[in-house]
Amino acid sequence: MSIRLQDVTYIYMSKTPYEKAAIKKINLEIKQGEFVGIIGHTGSGKSTLVQHLNGLLKPSSGMVHIDGQNIHEKGETARNAKRSVGMVFQYPEHQLFEESVYEDIAFGPRNLGVKEEEIETRVKKALDFVGLDFEKFAKRTPFQLSGGQMRRVAIAGVVALDPKYLVLDEPSAGLDPRGRDEIFGQIMNLHQATGITVVLVSHNMEDVARMANRLIVMNKGEILLDGKPKDIFCNHQAQLKEAGVDVPPLTLLMNQFKQRGLEIDSAVIDIAT
Ligand code: ADP
Repeated sequence: MSIRLQDVTYIYMSKTPYEKAAIKKINLEIKQGEFVGIIGHTGSGKSTLVQHLNGLLKPSSGMVHIDGQNIHEKGETARNAKRSVGMVFQYPEHQLFEESVYEDIAFGPRNLGVKEEEIETRVKKALDFVGLDFEKFAKRTPFQLSGGQMRRVAIAGVVALDPKYLVLDEPSAGLDPRGRDEIFGQIMNLHQATGITVVLVSHNMEDVARMANRLIVMNKGEILLDGKPKDIFCNHQAQLKEAGVDVPPLTLLMNQFKQRGLEIDSAVIDIAT
């Protein structure tokens, strides 16, 4: 079970003077259960790449398969394959529109034909995952919540769809450090509790290093590095710099790795000290 991209190229404004190949011949397989961080400088193609994972963008050339199904074929099977990917866009709270938190989260599952009894269970579970109390929040209007709370309601709306793969594009953008830590903690809990596959886009190495099992570094529309965060960080500092990725202080990252129980290369200690 996986999402597989084969030779995927995407060109914006094709055949105009402004045409731009945002991603070029990407080959990538994301396996069920992974926690993948996608990192890279602004404009490196991260958003364009992840919008191919649920068929929102159709490759200019190349193919996308989800669990073996070509998602750009016609028919129910391809539609269902696309639906197995939940997508949280940047600033997802801009898409809130219902008059209550409950209705907003219920909207997606209801649209998929989920029965009303199950919808309530899903809303409760989704709110629980994002750390919001059902009794306190379900009836409130989403527009009077704080920025961080609105963001969580929006994420809960995607979680309630019960996706197999969860893709989040910069889910912490614009939040203060506390809000950021909370959101990341909840994503990590969700991954650990349910085994859901997570693809997390960030331009912040520190955020992904503490969570992802695998890191993909994008540069100029291509995959520059793909491997374990620790290995990338220890052995590819020069390439990270070339890709314009902000690399946090070594000591800080070492702490993150330690917290996750990863041993630290003696090479890193050499650089850090
Ligand atoms: P990232 O998510 O890493 O910031 P994007 O995928 O948003 O990168 O952008 C990759 C490239 O594609 C950039 O050069 C960007 O300017 C261009 N691009 C992105 N969206 C559009 C669009 N809607 N129209 C034209 N060019 C775009």
